[in-house]
Amino acid sequence: MAGSPFSATYAEARDKFLAAATEAGASLSAYVHPQRGPDGGELATDVAWVGPADAQAVLVMVSGTHGVEGHCGSGAQVDWLHRGEYARLGPKLAVALVHAINPYGFAWSRRVTHENVDLNRNFIDFTKPLPQNPAYDGLAAAVKPLTWTETARNESREILLGYAREHGFPALVQAMSGGQYRHSDGIFYGGSGPTWSRRTLEAIFRERLSAASDVGIIDYHTGLGPEGYAEQIVSALPTSDEYRRAALWHGLAVASQSGGESVSAKLAGDWLDAAPGLLGHARVTGIALEYGTVESNQVLEALRADNWLHAHGDPLSAEGQAIKAQIRAAFYVDTQVWHGMVLGQSLIAGRQAIAGLTRAVAA
Ligand SMILES: [Zn+2]
Repeated sequence: MAGSPFSATYAEARDKFLAAATEAGASLSAYVHPQRGPDGGELATDVAWVGPADAQAVLVMVSGTHGVEGHCGSGAQVDWLHRGEYARLGPKLAVALVHAINPYGFAWSRRVTHENVDLNRNFIDFTKPLPQNPAYDGLAAAVKPLTWTETARNESREILLGYAREHGFPALVQAMSGGQYRHSDGIFYGGSGPTWSRRTLEAIFRERLSAASDVGIIDYHTGLGPEGYAEQIVSALPTSDEYRRAALWHGLAVASQSGGESVSAKLAGDWLDAAPGLLGHARVTGIALEYGTVESNQVLEALRADNWLHAHGDPLSAEGQAIKAQIRAAFYVDTQVWHGMVLGQSLIAGRQAIAGLTRAVAA
């Protein structure tokens, strides 16, 4: 009997994923990252493919878009393999498990890529004028004080909470997490060009999905909403065909991010939103599973601490290790109950997507 599908580190997660994929008879390919992990180990995005290489319908399950959130998604992917869910695939179906699309963030317990970029703000057209976020501009100094003493933390937190008192907490969330393109050392930074992780995901799509007429997507996230509940987020508007298909597959609790129904802020540059454009030959039906962890304030404090650490501190110091424990706890609840909720809701979403794809190619 296989042990827990969850892992304490990226290196352990990668080992478990490769072992489970090999056991399942999947074909494996690795996209090696230019940097190394904190243990000096190799970083890579691994793709496990189950089913025919030229399958008409493909379910793509992606972990680690936001690095440290990969503890959740990796566990769900390994569990999917351990359970033998691939036995449900008909002859026209395949599943691509993309493990750790942001392996640097996973290994270093960060939400961002090694370019300090939020991958889900990076899928924009950089030849066009960049989105503006004046509210973030006004708060940028408070987001990241020069020191991380208790006094500096409290003073800067007071400024942010003062903004929330004046404009409402949702306005603070929108200002912080809506994405910004001016402060490369800040949080929720969208970058100045395509990151390694974006280029890798686009390469995987190009190389592996060009024969598919129907593509389902499940992208795993954590950190927003009630603890353990997975909101099924659709990027597209509720009036779109993609949203309607997602609701048919996954049920009436799907929530449109761009339509303002979701726990997520409205944002530009998330890859789920970009996927239909990248896969213009296919019908794309995708959701993000967004699992709640801890209070939003705790999540924001952990992100600010990690942001300060990599700008001004030493991640390998004792202080750095304490901040790493803080950010990991904000995005990964290491309890039996939370693990069970992750796997249960993931199992359902995977079966729903496979059933949806099966109907699509039978029609
Ligand atoms: Zn996320």
